[in-house]
Amino acid sequence: MILILLGPPGAGKGTQAKLLAAAFSIPHISTGDMFRDQKARGTELGKKVQAIMDSGGLVTDDITNSMVDERLARADVMSGCILDGYPRTVGQAEHLDRLLAKLGRGVDRVLSYEVSEEALVDRIGGRRSCPACGAVYHLTQNPPSRVGTCDKEGVALVQREDDKPEKVRNRMQEYAAKTAPLKGYYAGRGLVVELDGLGAPEAILAETRRRLGR
Ligand code: ADP
Repeated sequence: MILILLGPPGAGKGTQAKLLAAAFSIPHISTGDMFRDQKARGTELGKKVQAIMDSGGLVTDDITNSMVDERLARADVMSGCILDGYPRTVGQAEHLDRLLAKLGRGVDRVLSYEVSEEALVDRIGGRRSCPACGAVYHLTQNPPSRVGTCDKEGVALVQREDDKPEKVRNRMQEYAAKTAPLKGYYAGRGLVVELDGLGAPEAILAETRRRLGR
């Protein structure tokens, strides 16, 4: 099963993607995580995308599509995957359609997480993550047991550079202009499942499974 997760920054796609991947035993493919990993490892690609990511802008379609091509060529996606943060533009969606067609496959469902702007601002403002293991916390909604410290790694939590308020506005604008139109793109094919993105992660997962019928 190939699922696309759609929703504005802070809608909880990453959290749901991890839960869905575990529930269906298929890989979680997050282009944001892949780019952050490249940055952290200081690769050529990482250096190329660093400035644009830190500003809250989108990496070019060419760079993103070729990274995804390589990932989807790996054997572990045979049984499906959860696409989190990809596609993010109509150009990427068209590219994905061509790629999947070549593999004799297609997108099964597009999960669209609906969250008010007010909730998004709070979620992003309070989000902190572990630089060592990538675990994500929230100052009030999902705090670590020791303030500012990762439960698993014991290291200090950090705020993502692009979660800083001045960058968030840019990400929201990019989302509205370039990613929001994807909902219409997939709705035309009857693939969109709208979900309330507010609530406990496990409850949202249960509702998602109910709507997917599995
Ligand atoms: P968010 O929390 O906004 O959903 P992600 O972790 O998915 O953020 O992505 C972080 C950043 O990585 C984006 O702001 C963008 O710069 C880059 N990025 C991730 N996925 C894509 C993509 N599909 N196309 C272009 N840029 C991307």
